Amino acid sequence: MEKGLIFDIRHFSTHDGPGIRTTIFFKGCPLKCIWCHNPESQKLEPEAIKRFNKLDGQEFEICEIVGRYRSIDDVFEEIESQVSIFDESKGGVTFSGGEPLMQSKFLLKLLKLCRLHDIHTAVDTCGFASIEVFNLILPYTNLFLFDLKLVSPAKHEMYTGQPNHVILKNLFYLEQNNAYVVVRIPLIPGITDDETNLTAIKAIIKPLRCVKRLDLLPYHHMAKDKYRRMNISYDLEHIEPYTDERLAEIKLIFNDLLIPVTIGG
Ligand code: SF4
Repeated sequence: MEKGLIFDIRHFSTHDGPGIRTTIFFKGCPLKCIWCHNPESQKLEPEAIKRFNKLDGQEFEICEIVGRYRSIDDVFEEIESQVSIFDESKGGVTFSGGEPLMQSKFLLKLLKLCRLHDIHTAVDTCGFASIEVFNLILPYTNLFLFDLKLVSPAKHEMYTGQPNHVILKNLFYLEQNNAYVVVRIPLIPGITDDETNLTAIKAIIKPLRCVKRLDLLPYHHMAKDKYRRMNISYDLEHIEPYTDERLAEIKLIFNDLLIPVTIGG
């Protein structure tokens, strides 16, 4: 029986698409962004992560395994348990990660099951996959949450480990095929948030009819502890989160887009 490697399933999400959603987190990602908020999502295999607990004032560590192989039936049962909430809130299920397209066969089966049961589907993707994979899932995906990070190919490769031409090609493919897309830009101070990069992203998305909204996702410190628990050095230790004023300034860059622009999604 086919299984997928899943590292989390969260119900009642309100930031991963319309309504109240169940988000399925696939493990494995072809990118390695230095700001990644889910470092435990990157490897396409189960892995150990420490948890620090305190007892009688003393800290001790427990090792837990992140990522579990789960069957289609098992995952779909979780999705199905939330159908009445989806119906009431006009929500659905979001496949996220990691990168869900890395396990495209498993994803496709879940998407087809959702379509069969009339459940709204969103795929949250970094865009780095083959056109064939996009072609397979396109007919069963109601919404793509599509990340655009850096327009400079050299910077994209430096900060994510992969070039960006495949990602841009896939975005244009979604345009040609009338997909419904929300573009998401992770705002990382000093890396993705300079005016040159943001203006270049704006120039890419402005003519695209498929892009219905732009979400700006501001950097935060919440993943710091995960890096410690995984014994990985955290290169962004020194970076301060945004002030509201700076976020408002950044949002102004996109003022002339004819689509809604949100901070935080
Ligand atoms: S694409 Fe997302 S999940 Fe993958 S490394 Fe980058 S931030 Fe992490």
